[in-house]
This record gives sequence, structure tokens and C-alpha cells, in this order.
Amino acid sequence: MKPQLSPIELRALLNSRGEEAQYLRDCAARTSEELFGRAVYLRGLIEISSYCRNNCLYCGLRRDNTSAERYRLTAEQIIECCQHGYKAGLRTFVLQGGEDGYWTDERLVPLVESIVATFPDAAVTLSLGERSADSYKALRAAGASRYLLRHEAASESLYRAIHPAEMSYRARLEAIEHLLALGYQTGMGMMIGVPGQSVDDIAEDIKLIYNLKPQMVGIGPFIPHPATPFGGAEAGDIELVLNCIAIIRLMLPHALIPATTALATLCHDGHRRAIEAGANVIMPNLSPAAVRSKYSIYAGKAASGTEAAENLRDLEAELSAFGYTINYGKGDYNDTL
Ligand code: SAH
Repeated sequence: MKPQLSPIELRALLNSRGEEAQYLRDCAARTSEELFGRAVYLRGLIEISSYCRNNCLYCGLRRDNTSAERYRLTAEQIIECCQHGYKAGLRTFVLQGGEDGYWTDERLVPLVESIVATFPDAAVTLSLGERSADSYKALRAAGASRYLLRHEAASESLYRAIHPAEMSYRARLEAIEHLLALGYQTGMGMMIGVPGQSVDDIAEDIKLIYNLKPQMVGIGPFIPHPATPFGGAEAGDIELVLNCIAIIRLMLPHALIPATTALATLCHDGHRRAIEAGANVIMPNLSPAAVRSKYSIYAGKAASGTEAAENLRDLEAELSAFGYTINYGKGDYNDTL
């Protein structure tokens, strides 16, 4: 796709529906198929803490949500999750959580080192929010090779509208720049349908992603959480999510793009629809069953069925029904494919 699409062209693509949207998504799926075959990579998601110092207006883990149940996994529990995942065939572990002050570098560095030492042929991805450049550097040196930090909104005014005053658009972008400069395979992304977001805002997101060229791009629908200021808002539009995935696939053909849990939560055939629009990653939940319902970033978050790492055989069956398989490789970003 020519990268210099005008905002008007981008808006038209985002707004396409019916046959036109089908064509867009088919082109994207063909692009993934040429590069990755009819296969998706897996990432085991371990939700290490539901404590968060931040107060993002959309997120159920926000600090002002006093009804949120907070938990924190121990290092031993996290390694045990990796062990289960490794046995099941997973070769990427994603440690995600709220911005929990407990997880200092002094605690996190040895944990990452120990996962890397125990599973030398697996990748460690972190998704723990904004940290200092020095912290990202120490974690990279400890062996973490990927980091997911969605930019959330490329429009500064939208960013301000969905975050508390103490959070800054600049700081978010700087953190992403640090990650890219340190050689992390870096993930950006945004929710579709967060209150106040227009299609033009999404076009700006796409432009920013194209300019920074992250290796991973996570795009899912916004889903309201009742105990947040956006609790009464509507969920994001699935068609728009799928168009967005397709556009990113065409613009950044080698990117790793998940069929997100949020999409699977809203839509029973979310995996299929995302994969048939160019997604090539699924992130099964590897957290201990007892804490899964507590990592409640939005209402009704799927963590069972084919979203659960213990059911990979079911996921294989689900994928094979539309002609796809699992690629059990580590799935590093590779732009020489
Ligand atoms: N604290 C980490 C991880 C956040 S959870 C960080 O700041 O990066 C991962 C992603 O879930 C967020 O980046 C956000 O885009 C998404 N998310 C949060 N609340 C959501 C909601 N209500 N609906 C859909 N996605 C949501």
C-alpha cells in the first residue's frame, strides 16, 4: 500500500463496509499468507499484577476503582506459569500488569534473568507500562527482547481526554522511542471506539504507527468497564477494528499483529475474523486460573475456551476449521521473510 495515503484516503478505507471492506481484508490476509503462511504465532500471557498507580479513564485496574480485586503473583508463581506454557508448546511469555510499584528493577531483573536461563529458547516480552529509560535498559540487558506499550492515542487532545492530568502524551511517546532505540521488538497500538475518538483520530494513529514502524501492533475494541468513568459508554465497532488491522498489515507487512482478547470477547469468531483481516498472533491466557477474573481491565474479558493456554488443542481445531494452523516457533520479528 502506498504509504503516503492522504487522511481522506485513510478515512475512506477505515469507513469501508460490505464488499469494499471484504476486499481490503482479503488483500491483507493474502499479504500475511505470503509472508507467514496460513499460520499464527502464540504468546502466553501472564498477568502478573492488578495493582496500578495510574488512573486511566477507560481501564478497570485504575487506582480509583476501589471495587477492583488486587493481586500480585510471586516470582515463583510466574515461573510456574512459564513452565506450564512451555510444556504446552509456548515459546513466548508476556508478563503484563498494571504499573505496580512492587515490581522494581531490583525484583524484575532477576525474574527476567531466571526465565531466560530456564527457557533459553523462549522470548520474554514485558508489558508493564511506562518505566525510565534506565529501567528499560536494565531489563533489556537481563534478556527481555520485546515490550508492548500501546501509544493509546496519537492525537494529543484525545490522549488527554482519556487519561488523568498527571499522565503525559509526551512521556508515553518518549517511552516508546526509548524502547525502539534499545532494540526491543516494540508493540504500539490503541483501542477502537474509546469515548471521544473519531475516525480521523484513528487515521492519526495509523500515521504515527507507520512513521515509527513498531514490530508489533495491538488493536482491539474498547469495552466499557462499569466501575470506570467510561462505564456507560458503548463498546467499539468490530468492523472498524478489522479494517484497521487490515490497513496496518498492508502498511507494515512484517508486523506481528494479534487477534486481541478484546475482539474475541465481543465476537465469538473474533480470532477468525481478525486472522482473515491480516492478524497473525494469538495470546492465550497463561495466568493462574484463580486470578484470571481479577485482571479485569474491561467487563467480561475472555480468559477461557480458546483464549486459555490450557486449551491449545481446541484452538488448533478452531483454526483448522478455516484452514489455519499454529506456528509453535518463537516468532521473532523478521523483515527478511
Ligand atoms: N499497564 C500496562 C498494560 C495495560 S493493559 C500499560 O500501560 O501498557 C493492556 C491494554 O489494554 C492497554 O494498553 C489498553 O489499550 C487496553 N485496555 C485497557 N482498558 C481497556 C478497555 N476498557 N477496553 C479495551 N481495552 C482496554
